[in-house]
Amino acid sequence: KGSLVCVGTGLQLAGHVTVIGKSYIESAEEVFSLMPDAFGQRWLEGLNTNITDLQQFYAKAGEVKNRRLTYEQMTEAIMTAVRAGKRVVGVFYGHPGVFACVPHMAIARAQKEGFQASMEPGISAEDCLWADLGIDPGNYGCQSLEASQLMFFEHQLDNAGYVLLWQIALAGEHTLTGFSTTEERLRVLVDLLRQWYPEQHKVCLYEASNLPIGACRAEWVYLKDLPEATLHAITTLVIPPVRELQYNLRVLNQLGLTPEDLG
Ligand code: SAM
Repeated sequence: KGSLVCVGTGLQLAGHVTVIGKSYIESAEEVFSLMPDAFGQRWLEGLNTNITDLQQFYAKAGEVKNRRLTYEQMTEAIMTAVRAGKRVVGVFYGHPGVFACVPHMAIARAQKEGFQASMEPGISAEDCLWADLGIDPGNYGCQSLEASQLMFFEHQLDNAGYVLLWQIALAGEHTLTGFSTTEERLRVLVDLLRQWYPEQHKVCLYEASNLPIGACRAEWVYLKDLPEATLHAITTLVIPPVRELQYNLRVLNQLGLTPEDLG
């Protein structure tokens, strides 16, 4: 009977994959992969010879294709092998369940059809970010949002904690066919962010290195300059807190405590 495990390879080539993730890849009957670059794909091919690259489902040069269709085709490619009774492994860079819909869709579909399916966690871009920038998200709290979701839906940002905006290079791209944003859309985003942050607030364009030898990109710019900044598909925007944590005197009172009790 077919089965599915989705594993993450982390971001850094060969070094971030977990022991169990690697063993799943090596023993799979069929592997489907979504790696960030050709180096990663080649490394994978050294672990298992039966690999289908899911990149083929993205729009070709000049083609207009909705990414929803792409994700559906990727999911069905995986499911076809599961239904054929294969022990299938989906390999995705980073954490397979973080800002990645295909692993979630494939696992849910497989389980619905009665197959065994599960996910193994991996090292996500966010994990690398905390390590590279020397930030502990526990100090002030952290919100992680897709940039477009922040723009399209009502969200309240907590500007006393960290805010991470994922897929900043696609901010406001609603058609799901384009692969970049525009200065105009980024100005709309900056305008939205201005209700929580001053325009001189410094934000960081973060890109973890995919190779063990490379350094990360951590470029600090003023919020107002974001529309002119260089953004890549892998850029995550980091917005540090702009105000101090405020005591919740009502809850402290209910606990019989005062701020002085917290040390
Ligand atoms: N599943 C991936 C993970 O666990 O990191 C995230 C995939 S999501 C579709 C793509 C977004 O992840 C990018 O737009 C960016 O926000 C973030 N990302 C991916 N690679 C990155 C990198 N090398 N450095 C920083 N952020 C990255």
